[in-house]
Amino acid sequence: MADFVAEKIVKEFETSDGPLRILDEVDLQLSRGDNVAILGPSGSGKSTFLHIAGTLDEATSGKIQLNDENPEGLNEKQLAQFRNRNIGFIFQEHHLLPQLSAIENVLIPTVANRNESVADVVSRATSLLDAVGLVDRMDHRPAQLSGGERQRVAVARSLICKPVLLLADEPTGSLDAKNAQAVGELLLRLQQENNMMLICVTHSEKLAELFRSRVEIQNGKLVQAD
Ligand code: ADP
Ligand code: MG
Repeated sequence: MADFVAEKIVKEFETSDGPLRILDEVDLQLSRGDNVAILGPSGSGKSTFLHIAGTLDEATSGKIQLNDENPEGLNEKQLAQFRNRNIGFIFQEHHLLPQLSAIENVLIPTVANRNESVADVVSRATSLLDAVGLVDRMDHRPAQLSGGERQRVAVARSLICKPVLLLADEPTGSLDAKNAQAVGELLLRLQQENNMMLICVTHSEKLAELFRSRVEIQNGKLVQAD
């Protein structure tokens, strides 16, 4: 059994012309250590799929399973805990809080998680900032960091709760080509070092080439991009 399973995911949005089917029985299976890049034009349903995979949105029908756990039927609070325990998110915009330092931003997801000592999480946050090359900038606020550095803080934040699944929606989309490639390579390196699964939406063919597999959403179906 795969560690992450999306099975026959259908997503329809209601419109004035009736239901609009964006995802049409999408299947995806990943095991620990796997990474996949999702390519494809704007509006094809990439973010919709990522949101469903991350339990931020519900499918019209179909099943999501992570580590043999099926989040269907969990209430909002249980779902939030499920995400916090298992899934890391990185978006195109960093969504760092401007009034907090880099290390405080990295620590935010641990606030909801009270079963670890402060010393332990601070030590892990420091290691993660070291891993993303920012240990000497950890007291800096987002405004004092470059775009690439801010996104590297967001990468560290996504890993602080030791997720098994990392979901990245155009994580390098607002960076220049050089920083984009560096952040993409960093994501892949950390994913492999921590034996996580990574699903990453990207428009960069150069970044996508570094992934174990490449898929595209075409007419609601997930197809191999190679
Ligand atoms: P992508 O990330 O590939 O650019 P999205 O997943 O954001 O595409 O959107 C796929 C399609 O679904 C688009 O046509 C978009 O307009 C539509 N869509 C997304 N969210 C909604 C919604 N809440 N209601 C209606 N249509 C939506
Ligand atoms: Mg999108």
